[in-house]
Amino acid sequence: MRVFCFTADLDRDVNIRIPGAAAAGSADRGDGNSPRFGSARAGLDILLEILRDAGVKATFFAEGRTLENVSAKGLSEHEVGVHGYDHEDMTSMSGQEIRECLGRAVRSVRVAAGRDPVSFRAPYMKINETVLGILPEFGIRYDSSMYAQMGGSIRPRMLSGGVTEVPVPEGRDRSGNKIAAYLWPMHEGKRMPEDYVNMASEIREDIFVLATHTWHMAESRDRGIMAPDEVSRNAENVRAVIDGIVGMGFEPMSVSDAAEYFQNGKD
Ligand SMILES: [Zn+2]
Repeated sequence: MRVFCFTADLDRDVNIRIPGAAAAGSADRGDGNSPRFGSARAGLDILLEILRDAGVKATFFAEGRTLENVSAKGLSEHEVGVHGYDHEDMTSMSGQEIRECLGRAVRSVRVAAGRDPVSFRAPYMKINETVLGILPEFGIRYDSSMYAQMGGSIRPRMLSGGVTEVPVPEGRDRSGNKIAAYLWPMHEGKRMPEDYVNMASEIREDIFVLATHTWHMAESRDRGIMAPDEVSRNAENVRAVIDGIVGMGFEPMSVSDAAEYFQNGKD
């Protein structure tokens, strides 16, 4: 069986690194770089509707502070994982700092979602052995912060510290150009839905993890906050990707369900 994991990072709008600070900011739209959450909030509603229509259970990797600034209502049908508290690059933190950050992040998921998270995606997809080694202390058993090459093993695999990696695939499109299963370029008008459907079509008996951000449903990094017609077009593109993949017979699962499915060797 082929498994489809739709994942969305629920983080502050167009997050950017702020030099000298652990906490990320947002791209400046005229009011400075302070974190904004309006596009994350609007985009979450749009995504939830698309997922509901498609009957897809997804995984939201939620950053703590963003979770405290958007309504978590509607997330109950989905898995809610951890994505830092302030969108920190944890690879530049000490063990103590990582523990403090994860403690706050896990608490905010517990409060907002009403359950303990078991999955993690690192902000900026930046992970190392130190972070991976600390995750189990917080009950986190699954990570989706790495890329894996299509054609090689893209199945969930247990890492040495006991965390199971559920990687995001990357490969080449039909023109031979590099493509990753992150919808970023499509939201920016640089790729079409079929690029991702074609990518998934190459999967045989495996798993296809697709990733995006909720803010990217309502705001472009390059063009700013989207006008309503652009929001609609963008949403239709995401629908086309999801419908195309599910239409090929992929079984939608959350990241933790998929990891357990493959670990139990059920296919
Ligand atoms: Zn992020």
